[in-house]
Amino acid sequence: MSILVVGSVAFDSVKTPFGEVEEVLGGSATYFSTSASYFSGVKLVAVVGSDFPDKHLDSLKKRGIDISGIKKVDGKTFRWKGYYDYDLNQAHTLDTQLNVFSDFDPDIPSAMADSKYLFLANIDPELQLKVLEQVKSPRLVACDTMNFWIEGKPDVLKKLLKRVELFVINEGEAREFTGEASLVKAAKKILDLGPNTLIVKRGEYGALMFNGTSVFSAPAYPLEEIYDPTGAGDSFAGGLIGYLANSGDLSDDNMRRAIIFGSVMASFNVEAFSMGRLGNLTNEEIRARYYEFKKLTRFEEL
Ligand code: AMP
Repeated sequence: MSILVVGSVAFDSVKTPFGEVEEVLGGSATYFSTSASYFSGVKLVAVVGSDFPDKHLDSLKKRGIDISGIKKVDGKTFRWKGYYDYDLNQAHTLDTQLNVFSDFDPDIPSAMADSKYLFLANIDPELQLKVLEQVKSPRLVACDTMNFWIEGKPDVLKKLLKRVELFVINEGEAREFTGEASLVKAAKKILDLGPNTLIVKRGEYGALMFNGTSVFSAPAYPLEEIYDPTGAGDSFAGGLIGYLANSGDLSDDNMRRAIIFGSVMASFNVEAFSMGRLGNLTNEEIRARYYEFKKLTRFEEL
């Protein structure tokens, strides 16, 4: 079963304590699609400018991603510039240029409108809503966002959340969005807005899932070398939704497996800048790391 995703396709300029890159391939939908492509078919809807090189489109296509929903228009591609200090959980944005996304009006081709799995990756919530309105009867609608939109368009975001089943958000953003320091209280407030499952991404501390009846805590993989956390959240979502779409099983047990696959993909992503590691994995590496996660959290009954 394939996934329809809308989100940013971007040029990122990133500095971390371990290196620096200028105008490399990035964007929420790029990281999501690359990650999800190891599990399931992906159809990507986005817009890029005339400065976007074909080699980037080819690299997405090579991963089997359907790029027929990427429009190339006159103008400049979305750009994001940021840096991280030694606390790699905290991205500091220096510049966000929406460029061609400012007047993007997504028009979902009919062949994509009956997608059963929809991921609204981080982008203007108005665009996320416009895409959602065109998808006929999705089985699972999931979405992500960030402080830029929480601060800029909180009401649109709340309107969107009424129609979303699975919401993934960073720990700091969950606190900012709800005004609650306790993640348990923040989760209750967010679940009251509409989603039936919330996943809070906690960077190097893993992820927490809340669904109103149970809480699941997944660790992050203890890596020795981390180069760049950019895209960790989106590659997490790619592994998560990719695995759910492939298995077709939305039960609590399977959601837990999917969260571990999300964590596996995020752990690979941070090992290099841009798609340096995420774009070149093997299924064996992914499976082996899944079992490393199992060993990491195994303990015996009393
Ligand atoms: P994350 O997975 O949260 O680290 O997301 C990183 C990606 O989000 C980067 O590749 C950026 O291009 C993209 N990004 C940054 N700011 C925004 C924004 N305001 N809207 C959409 N995408 C963004």
